Amino acid sequence: MMDTGHDQITAAPPGYHAEEVTSVHHWTDRLFSFTCTRDPALRFTSGQFAMIGLLVGGKPLVRAYSMVSPAWEEQLEFLSIKVPDGPLTSRLQHIRVGEKVLIGRKPVGTLITDNLLPGRNLWMLATGTGLAPFMSLVRDPEVYAKFDRVILAHTVREARELAYREYITHELPEHELLGEDVRAKLVYLPAVTREPFPVTGRITTRLESGAAEREAGVEPLDPARDRVMICGSEAMNADCRALLDARGFVEGTNSAPGSFVVEKAFVTK
Ligand code: FAD
Repeated sequence: MMDTGHDQITAAPPGYHAEEVTSVHHWTDRLFSFTCTRDPALRFTSGQFAMIGLLVGGKPLVRAYSMVSPAWEEQLEFLSIKVPDGPLTSRLQHIRVGEKVLIGRKPVGTLITDNLLPGRNLWMLATGTGLAPFMSLVRDPEVYAKFDRVILAHTVREARELAYREYITHELPEHELLGEDVRAKLVYLPAVTREPFPVTGRITTRLESGAAEREAGVEPLDPARDRVMICGSEAMNADCRALLDARGFVEGTNSAPGSFVVEKAFVTK
């Protein structure tokens, strides 16, 4: 058997649940997702993240991960990068069905609808694995109850990195509970920056020029009407923040809702 470089988890250390992996899907050589069981005591709000990981040398080796699954789902789902020398993901990428992972008991995060003032359109701007919290939110009926239009803009380098594209375009509109809302309100804007694709270019450039709004069939971004959630690299987040600041948007926090919220998809060391 392959040495996955981590201990078998027999009991969860304090602060964590030990959950069993129920499926693993490799999207590319840099991207995979997995599902695992969920302790009924684990409560979270769609869009939040938790510390998750493995036991290595008897100690938890954990990183922040957004839940891909919505708050109502029985199982948990995560979307993960594979960093070749990454302490966690060099191991986690080899995880198999039946093995256990650690899930932190206290999910947190700013990408929740409570941190936004009421509005008409909800824009979700993601690059790479920044899609994860939005996969949770686009499967939460509360999001559709609060907004008339939900626009999910996912930008990646290569088309094959558009994780969940088939699911979003084909399965979600037919979903038993969500299909009607999805068909009426969800607009999916996939884009690719490093190879030919129907839509190319960074989301900030496309928002600045008005191209993204035209793709979505809505008016140019306006804080009177639009709310925005951002989850990307630090550079992408900074560019989006600058664009929104210039248009008079105000950042929301867990203590004061605003017209946009931001979370890092990862931290560059
Ligand atoms: P690390 O030592 O943590 O990272 C090594 C380097 O790899 C980083 O410096 C960075 O340059 C690069 N890197 C790390 N993560 C990513 C990424 N996701 N995409 C591109 N490059 C990256 N990661 C996920 O895969 N899925 C998530 O849902 C997710 N949610 C996060 C939520 C928050 C709030 C934060 C702060 C981070 C999140 N991350 C997510 C990143 C995650 O915490 C780890 O950094 C990642 O799992 C790699 O762990 P590692 O120990 O292998 O390498």
